[in-house]
Amino acid sequence: MNAELLAGLSSLVSDSARILTAPSVLERLSHDFYWYSPVLRPKLANKSGDVAVQPLNMDELLAVLRYAGRHAIPVTVRGAGTGNYGQCVPLEGGIVLDLALMDKLEKITTDGVAVCQPGLRLGALEAEARKHGWELRMYPSTLAKASIGGFLAGGSGGIGSVTHGGLRDFDTVRAFEVVTMEEEPRVVLHEGPAVHEILHAWGTNGVLTRIWFALAPAVEWTQCTVAFDTFDQAFTFTESVAVNSAWTKRLATVFEWPIPSYFAPIKQMVRAGKSMALVMIATQQLDALRAAAAAAGGEATFAESYEGPRTQPLLSDYTWNHTTLWAMKADPAYTYLQCGFSPTECREQFHLLRARYGEEILFHIEFMKNGEGVVTPGAIPVVRFTTEERLNDMIAYCRSIGVFVANPHVNSLEDGGRFRADNVQLLAKQKYDPRGLLNPGKMLSFRKAVAQ
Ligand SMILES: Cc1cc2nc3c(=O)[nH]c(=O)nc-3n(C[C@H](O)[C@H](O)[C@H](O)COP(=O)(O)OP(=O)(O)OC[C@H]3O[C@@H](n4cnc5c(N)ncnc54)[C@H](O)[C@@H]3O)c2cc1C
Repeated sequence: MNAELLAGLSSLVSDSARILTAPSVLERLSHDFYWYSPVLRPKLANKSGDVAVQPLNMDELLAVLRYAGRHAIPVTVRGAGTGNYGQCVPLEGGIVLDLALMDKLEKITTDGVAVCQPGLRLGALEAEARKHGWELRMYPSTLAKASIGGFLAGGSGGIGSVTHGGLRDFDTVRAFEVVTMEEEPRVVLHEGPAVHEILHAWGTNGVLTRIWFALAPAVEWTQCTVAFDTFDQAFTFTESVAVNSAWTKRLATVFEWPIPSYFAPIKQMVRAGKSMALVMIATQQLDALRAAAAAAGGEATFAESYEGPRTQPLLSDYTWNHTTLWAMKADPAYTYLQCGFSPTECREQFHLLRARYGEEILFHIEFMKNGEGVVTPGAIPVVRFTTEERLNDMIAYCRSIGVFVANPHVNSLEDGGRFRADNVQLLAKQKYDPRGLLNPGKMLSFRKAVAQ
């Protein structure tokens, strides 16, 4: 970045200490957990922004976007950088727009909607909401660090999704304001179905600056683990809890052995050679859950109440994409996939995968509700990586037997598997970022449309 542009940017914020150029800082702010993928690792390691800017308020944010637009400088937005497939890694340099300081919770309305800035950390929102009798409907296992803006733009669901579905479902995301990257940036309110133009678009078609996020009434939760002799027993028990709406639950997770052996800090809950179910259940149903687990052949190995994000141990730290992290810590040859099994054919699908790949794939199931209200076995299996070809073979085979795969080893929206077929994200990009300056290179269909 040349001195003239730097001076220009410095004049836009009240304190030039919020314009960052030190190589080590830029390196950190330009990366996320892309290294989860052995395929993305070499492709993204050397990518970096040229400068990072940390706006404090809307005036500064608008000034930076206006300036970037006038000088045709790419802008990549950053929340907390916990994305796990390089969503916030700038492919073409330019400005990293770090929104960590725009983190205010404006209010929680009487009907349970949080109104906040994008940099607000989800853990802070969960803690504050619970003080007012509310809680997050769902959150990623990166609860403590992740920002709400990054979750909406880069995430999909998590703890709570077994009851409340994913981010795209059930009007959880009520509305947001988006700043465009037009000649003169505008602030555009998106409400109701219009939120789908921007949700999970990786900041390629607008910058979220004010968010209305629906909460759920707070529940007194207990975190439990149950050990089972076999994966089949653990799966069947957890499925019965997940699909039955009489159980009030926030997590319904199954780990095939040896995955639990990687959870070193909670080894007292693990039984050698056994699969593990991990459930967050309403405390008033704990006795009934224990009885159901025993009847299903399980041994309850832990049950303690959840007191908010600072609970220790916080068992969600072992679920969703954190499971992969523990496996990789134990053995760096592990990586993962993000799958959706069929609620009716899943046992046959498990069987086919085991027959073809043996223990190259280890089952880690996260039950979640889909947009039609059906609870399905989502999965983030732990996969032993050998070559990209073998990984692609596994992905293709999953798809051939009806297992949905959102591929976390690619760095474009379309290849990831969660790009909307109705193209509303592309249409929004054409409208709001016609010069393609926001997180360039991540929405391939935009490039294709421009080239035609
Ligand atoms: C260990 C681990 C566990 C995880 N578990 C889950 C999980 O359970 N569920 C899940 O969905 N994800 C999960 N993730 C992925 C990630 O943590 C979440 O999606 C998280 O919510 C991202 O938030 P962030 O603030 O870190 O976003 P970032 O990584 O900073 O950004 C994510 C994307 O959003 C864009 N963005 C950020 N802020 C804005 C904004 N204000 N406007 C527009 N675009 C913006 C960025 O450019 C980027 O493309 C996990 C990742 C890891 C490493």
